[in-house]
Amino acid sequence: MKFRKRIIAGNWKMNKTVSEATELAVAIRQELAETSDVDVVLCPPFTALAAVAESLEGSTISFGAQNMHWEASGAYTGEISPVMLRGLYCHYVILGHSERRTYFGETDEIVNRKAQAALASTLRPIVCVGETLEERESGKHIEIVAKQVHGSLAGIAEADLKNTVLAYEPVWAIGTGLTASPEQAQEMHACIRKELAVLCSQDAADSVRIQYGGSMKPSNAAELLAQPDIDGGLIGGASLEARSFVELVKIAKERN
Ligand code: PEP
Repeated sequence: MKFRKRIIAGNWKMNKTVSEATELAVAIRQELAETSDVDVVLCPPFTALAAVAESLEGSTISFGAQNMHWEASGAYTGEISPVMLRGLYCHYVILGHSERRTYFGETDEIVNRKAQAALASTLRPIVCVGETLEERESGKHIEIVAKQVHGSLAGIAEADLKNTVLAYEPVWAIGTGLTASPEQAQEMHACIRKELAVLCSQDAADSVRIQYGGSMKPSNAAELLAQPDIDGGLIGGASLEARSFVELVKIAKERN
């Protein structure tokens, strides 16, 4: 089996002022500054990116944005471009989070444009996919997520795909305290990997890291991360406190 370095990313969503974000980044850095066997990524809101970047300077911890526009510049009031993110030395950008899809009408086509633009600016996209509870109960969840994978990643070249991270986030598990069972998550991760092989190549499929997201916390992470196709976590609530986030990274390290 191909080695895939684990990746734990914190999605802070619309939380933390600049000073709160700095405090959290500094606290995480104190514990994880030299972590090299797990990729650690902090995704604060846009307003705190520069401050978090400064707090992390000289550490191995990366940072990223939670969204971006696909154009480099122009008349898009309120939007942020990939070029601007690179200008802050951002490494990653979360794209197609279910909250973006649900509240801001993001479609697979939009996510695809954003993913292509991110990669063209050497940003690594973390592309989120996942089904709603209704979709799972209808038994169509595998089909629905496969469609999201194909739609969001269409036309991405093999080398770029290898720089892309996927996050399987069942919508019913995000911020709800409900977690997919390790078996449910593994089943979907394996299906996503199979679709990546269809979309691109087996080599790319074996290289791409697929995170699980949805109420992952220290008490359930070990079991999830023990699954062969779960390569890390995209963490919401548990990333807002240094202690739980650091604990999750340590659990991921043990599972390497
Ligand atoms: C998320 O929003 O990406 C997420 C996984 O949130 P939570 O961990 O709070 O469910």
